[in-house]
Amino acid sequence: MNQSSTTPFTGITLALSKGRIFGETLPLLARAGIVPLVDPDSSRQLILPTSRPDVRLVIVRASDVPTYVQRGAADLGVAGLDVLLEQGGEGLYQPVDLRIARCRLMVAVSQGFDYEGAIGRGARLRVATKYAKLAREHFAAKGVHVDLIKLYGSMELAPLTGLADAIVDLVSSGNTLRANALEAVENIAEISSRLVVNGAAWKLYRERLAPVVEAIAQGVKETF
Ligand code: ATP
Ligand code: MG
Repeated sequence: MNQSSTTPFTGITLALSKGRIFGETLPLLARAGIVPLVDPDSSRQLILPTSRPDVRLVIVRASDVPTYVQRGAADLGVAGLDVLLEQGGEGLYQPVDLRIARCRLMVAVSQGFDYEGAIGRGARLRVATKYAKLAREHFAAKGVHVDLIKLYGSMELAPLTGLADAIVDLVSSGNTLRANALEAVENIAEISSRLVVNGAAWKLYRERLAPVVEAIAQGVKETF
């Protein structure tokens, strides 16, 4: 079970990110009989053995999950629909909506900013986001001209400092927006996390992967 670097792992590798997704995926995995033997928050280990010797978890950045699965370094992954839509999800089969980490991708502005008015005047909108592709597509579909400002975090700060007129970001309770005197003005997409599988691996190793995928799908049904 303790994989040395010289022993190739022949089981199933599942990629997921620390934090919210890890915490919300754990109960679903537990229902599928998969329990990590190491807590990623108190350990620096990035490869976590589980109660099933044939299943291990690898801890990666949320936005790196598709890459690991697309390139076959992981067989399965848990990725937000936001990440999948932004990156395209090419070569990935998405068999299960895990219904966790639910939120909305929204347009938000400073409270009192006349968003509809600005759009109506044909003003060029400065939009800060880490979702450049999704934001571009959203505003293009509306015929709104935008200057996209790529950020990597703390999007809420952009309108408050005058960096941008609007942000495109994930919103769940709305508490963060309210705490920063922002308000949501448009919903772009309903987001949740998806189980993703390498499409080629799914064809080649379906017999091996399907029981795990089905057990997780069953866990979702029993939980929600
Ligand atoms: P990093 O912190 O490594 O830069 P990240 O900010 O994308 O990456 P998280 O904040 O853990 O990492 O977000 C991971 C995923 O969780 C997102 O891709 C999204 O699907 C979901 N998520 C993010 N924010 C929320 C939220 N407020 N409510 C519910 N789900 C969320
Ligand atoms: Mg984050």
